[in-house]
Amino acid sequence: MRKGIIPLLLCLCLLAGCAGRAANDAETVELMAMDTFMRVTAYGEHREAAELAKEEITALESLLSVTDEGSEIYAANHAEGKPVTLSSDTAALLSRALELCESTGGALDVTIYPVVRAWGFTTDEFRVPEADELAALLERVDYTQVSMEGNTLTLPAGVELDLGAVAKGWTGDRVAALLRQQGVESALLELGGNIHTVGAKPDGSLWRVAVTDPAGDGYAGVVEVANKAVVTSGGYERCFERDGETYWHIIDPDTGYPARTGLQSVTVVAEEGVKCDALSTALFVMGPEKAAEFWRETGGFDFILLTGGGEIVITEGIEGSFSPYGAWIDQTVIVLRR
Ligand code: AMP
Ligand code: MG
Repeated sequence: MRKGIIPLLLCLCLLAGCAGRAANDAETVELMAMDTFMRVTAYGEHREAAELAKEEITALESLLSVTDEGSEIYAANHAEGKPVTLSSDTAALLSRALELCESTGGALDVTIYPVVRAWGFTTDEFRVPEADELAALLERVDYTQVSMEGNTLTLPAGVELDLGAVAKGWTGDRVAALLRQQGVESALLELGGNIHTVGAKPDGSLWRVAVTDPAGDGYAGVVEVANKAVVTSGGYERCFERDGETYWHIIDPDTGYPARTGLQSVTVVAEEGVKCDALSTALFVMGPEKAAEFWRETGGFDFILLTGGGEIVITEGIEGSFSPYGAWIDQTVIVLRR
């Protein structure tokens, strides 16, 4: 089940005026990568930049995929305790990801792969593992065991990386930087549920980015941004049902089970896409109270939480730029302040 992505993209097209309508004054590339649909729209005469963006996404995917036998992550996961030399791209992402594991107190843990695989989320062959199977796999989940010296990575045997929670955010940062270098002043990157904006819309107004309604095909709100990433993590994005229970792909590294913290989705807004991606996953694991505490302690980003009880909780930095929408329009919006 992978609801959410297509509706979000449709909404974005309506809201941001991408593709189709803008075909004459924009260059658009589309591709399937990192297990999702991606579209990059660069406004102005920037065909070459758009093509370079596509190449960059494909190149990063081939380094970072956990299942592709030719990827650096696959090689690292199969090195059986021996050191491997990473490209500077993979090393830079992994170093940043490890910082984010640390700063989130391990709510983000890039060594979660053995558990994610046991649930079948990498192959779509879903199953509910036994409690003692999960307990044994959790012995292998600990990002502090990852050793990086320059570009040399050593993983203890049995420890395996999964950069799925951060790779799209990182890719967005890289593609946005590349487009800027190419002179693009206005672009919209739709990388699955991750949105990155370069500059403002061509007419100078803010991009209106939709937040998907976890319960349906519409959207729950709109946030207006420029030069920012907007990244959502939600249980509805990849899930399956067994015996009346829904299980999703965001795992609590303390228990090995899908994180059930009373949240339907977490959207993070900040300049750095990899941070948005890491934090949307980690705050989903933390739940609303700890997420609020984390924001008060660290700052530097904003969020939109859609709770299981139908509340919308946002941080003060986006108070003036967020509006609820559709089925959520009459819901209470709680604004967190420092
Ligand atoms: P996202 O969609 O960005 O929230 O990332 C979810 C993906 O990251 C999952 O499909 C897993 O591959 C991986 N993942 C799940 N739980 C965690 C976690 N607690 N820390 C790091 N990665 C995770
Ligand atoms: Mg993420």
